[in-house]
Amino acid sequence: MQGMPPKLQFDTTAFDGIEYTGALTSGLIGHLTMTELLLVMIPVFLVGASFGSFLNVCIARWPLDLSVVSPRSRCPRCERPITWYENIPLLSWLILRGKCAGCALPISLQYPLVEVLVGGLWAAAFYYLGFTLEAVRVATFATLLFGIAVTDAKHYLIPDGFTVSGLILVMLFAIVNMFLGEPSHFVTPWPAILGACVGAGAITIIGWLAEVIIEREAMGFGDTTLMAVVGAAVGAERSLLTIVVGAFVGAVTFLMVVGPIVKIRTRRRGEEFAFPDVPFGVFLAPAALLTLLWGDALIRWYVERAFSA
Ligand SMILES: [Zn+2]
Repeated sequence: MQGMPPKLQFDTTAFDGIEYTGALTSGLIGHLTMTELLLVMIPVFLVGASFGSFLNVCIARWPLDLSVVSPRSRCPRCERPITWYENIPLLSWLILRGKCAGCALPISLQYPLVEVLVGGLWAAAFYYLGFTLEAVRVATFATLLFGIAVTDAKHYLIPDGFTVSGLILVMLFAIVNMFLGEPSHFVTPWPAILGACVGAGAITIIGWLAEVIIEREAMGFGDTTLMAVVGAAVGAERSLLTIVVGAFVGAVTFLMVVGPIVKIRTRRRGEEFAFPDVPFGVFLAPAALLTLLWGDALIRWYVERAFSA
């Protein structure tokens, strides 16, 4: 198939095609003692948690069109500037017991949760992929997707900050890997450009047709920009698979769970029922990560079943 990434050769139980190539440390990680493993993985987790801390700033500021660089973070109520030692991932939240040191305004549990999850993402990526560019690429992509999903769920918005920086990072990594030649889940630069066009185009066509059918706005432009980033990462074929998986999970969740809950609530209040808006990015983002890591196996499995009989 055209535009398919080279066959993976990471030594890991998470993916098929297992063969340790020597240059990667993923095979070696499996031979470390527990203490050695912790010594290697704790720093990775802390780096990830710091990215999670920055991601919290992006999630809070980008939907409001604010800069993520300046000014320094302040308490929204007493305006007390947050000092560096109150800004250490996880630790500060625990020491402050989730409250502002100035006025005791509660700090959302979202902050430490995002830090733990992103730290865990980075540790998992390095555990399975070794100390490789590929681990950095997967962890970065997953962090971005996570930020997009949280922001879309909270604000029904996918800020350009995520998608523009995502597109730049995905393309940059693809170009750097041309020189490193690591086997990768991501596509090479030219298929990435085509993938961005196909991903963004496909979701836009679907959104346009859906609007014609249901006679109301179905999809924001944020979904188009998100699928451009996803397409650049996974290529044309798997960007279509992302939309199929995301649409399926999103439709099931909203038709079977969220929709009925909203219906019962509005009926109790005696209001008229309107089907809730669907933050599609919440479903596209995890679908993109699944497709990146296991999409080829899924396509192969499907094609074998569909055409063997
Ligand atoms: Zn305060």
